[in-house]
Amino acid sequence: MQKPGSAAIYARISSDQSGEALGVTRQLEDCRKLAADHGWTVGEEYVDNDISAFKGKPRPQYQRMLDDLAGGYRDAVIVYNMDRLTRQPMELEQFTRLCEQAGVTQVKSVTADIDLGNDDGLFMARILAAIASKESGRKSQRLQRKARQTAEQGLPNGGHHRPFGYEQDRMTVNEAEAEILRQAVARFLAGESSRSICVWLNEEGVQTTAGGQWQTMTLNAILKSGRIAGLREHKGIVVADAQWPAIITREQRQQILGHFETKRRTNTRAPRRYVLSGLLRCGKCGNKLFSAIRVDTRRYVCLSGPDHGGCGGIAIVAAPLEEFLAAGVLMRLDTIELSETLKGRRAADDRQSTLLESLEDDRNQMKELSELWAAKDISSAEWKAARGPIEARIKATERQLAQASNSTALDGLIGTGSQLKEQWETLNLDRQAAIIKAVLDYATIMPGTPGARSLDPARIQPVWQL
Ligand SMILES: [Zn+2]
Repeated sequence: MQKPGSAAIYARISSDQSGEALGVTRQLEDCRKLAADHGWTVGEEYVDNDISAFKGKPRPQYQRMLDDLAGGYRDAVIVYNMDRLTRQPMELEQFTRLCEQAGVTQVKSVTADIDLGNDDGLFMARILAAIASKESGRKSQRLQRKARQTAEQGLPNGGHHRPFGYEQDRMTVNEAEAEILRQAVARFLAGESSRSICVWLNEEGVQTTAGGQWQTMTLNAILKSGRIAGLREHKGIVVADAQWPAIITREQRQQILGHFETKRRTNTRAPRRYVLSGLLRCGKCGNKLFSAIRVDTRRYVCLSGPDHGGCGGIAIVAAPLEEFLAAGVLMRLDTIELSETLKGRRAADDRQSTLLESLEDDRNQMKELSELWAAKDISSAEWKAARGPIEARIKATERQLAQASNSTALDGLIGTGSQLKEQWETLNLDRQAAIIKAVLDYATIMPGTPGARSLDPARIQPVWQL
């Protein structure tokens, strides 16, 4: 195919772009580059500004280009995206007919190549026009491009809360906060945990820029961020030197990332079994107990600190406690008391309780994400990217829950305690947890005697559901 000797470049910005002429400049730059890459000579650039083709308003420059194509003055068309050219399938048909008559076969867009000279190309163009006519996703594509451009120039993101360590303009260093950050980094690199650093920050009365308390996720996001090392990230990747000053050195940032990487690797342990997760309370402060491991011993502990808020005063070895409570549950299954209580009462089945748990997890994660976003620790793009899979999971779980809620957990279990006791070890963790949860509301764990070797049943105060 012969190279065009006088290509037309067409650019358009529509009124839905809040009149940013910049958009046209970007379209033109990309189109010129495309022409240069293919060795095409550009005859003329046609620009319609601030007019929406979608609303059927006239486009004088577009019309002029059509006239020039029909008259043989231009022999090819370059456009940023097909939706710049036509937004209605009808317009495309008119355009392709005109090109056919004028012998113009080469139409290129920055986003896709179309050869109107053959059926495949025409088909492709029709698909693109159909998509463009829906006008979906197009705007966001332009916005994403703009966001990328901003990032590549090393300019800051917009957003609600300023980044910690910087003023509202996101460019000027807030010296007081910068000093706090440097101390936090020094402590972290010296081996102190993020959680402990959060405790220190909260004790010092330092607030996040959202005006809240420090949590490890918030702090970790800042520590890992390129921003404080004077780097501009886009979608999690450093794309440019930032135009704002660094608070820590790039070497320090590398060391921080190295620490996180080491932690990630050493934290990968064999899967653990915590059948009583969420069912235990601290006898001192009433907080939930969390699963924890210490020297190969699984335990449930009250955790203090920013993420958990307990007193830290209770710990109990997991295995004997689990055995004890499971036995209690199974015994209760065989009592007359329970079968009486159960009459007319439907309880969640194992599936349901697992689903509810994962639903809660996912919702918490969404909340954490939006807090990160609100604190400007992650960009909107990162937020959206991270949100997608969680939202999908939540929807799927809700669907499954709707299906599961028709069945009952304990139907068929009543009176089977002794039988279940024999099978207990062969049941999977979810099934065990479901059976326990159906019977046990929660258990409070009282302080034990330090150094006690075996489980003291007096420490366990179960509250039965049924
Ligand atoms: Zn406690």
